[in-house]
Amino acid sequence: MTQDRAAALAAIAEQVRVCTRCPLYIGTTNPVPGAGNPNAEIMFIGEGPGYHEDQQGLPFVGRSGDYLNSLLKMIGLKRDEVFIANVVKHRPPENRDPLPDEILACKPYLDAQVDIINPLLIATLGRYSMARYFPDGKITKIHGQPRYADGRAYYPLFHPAAVLRNPDLRAAMEADFKRIPEIVEKVKQERAANPQPASKKPEEPQQPPKQMKLF
Ligand code: URA
Repeated sequence: MTQDRAAALAAIAEQVRVCTRCPLYIGTTNPVPGAGNPNAEIMFIGEGPGYHEDQQGLPFVGRSGDYLNSLLKMIGLKRDEVFIANVVKHRPPENRDPLPDEILACKPYLDAQVDIINPLLIATLGRYSMARYFPDGKITKIHGQPRYADGRAYYPLFHPAAVLRNPDLRAAMEADFKRIPEIVEKVKQERAANPQPASKKPEEPQQPPKQMKLF
């Protein structure tokens, strides 16, 4: 099963590598499809690659990544135990915000990654990934408040870069992070009591999305 998930994620990474569904790929050095453990219980979803991520083809490897690593360490986790992805898989020029059409074009890849990994907890980092699950949410209001649905927890967190820019957010970010293990445990118990329907089981990952030109 690990093999199946890893293979399915690799197939998506290959689709991302050759993706022309939106113009973001133009001028980038590497795609950043996401990285981590195919069997992760926890998935983090950020916004989009920055300079360092584009250079290395890996998510969260710059300053925000260092901070994310320290938060993971604080709760006894290493990066290779979680999966980290972004709402857009190519770096927006000059690190600008991703546009709605770009997020939409990239959505099938992220949807497929979520289906394959089937994590117990999805932590959104910042407003673009938060908007996937909390369309009307305001991060300052809802951070640290999990929503339980589909046999998992959706957990809105500040973006690490926002915390680095505004140290006043640090205490809240760390308190929110410290609740992750307890929330994961709660979902585990819930899944054990209410097994997921067959179609939701991770042995049956969705096919990666077909290439479709939108632009
Ligand atoms: N910020 C993000 O949202 N994603 C990354 O991969 C890096 C920085």
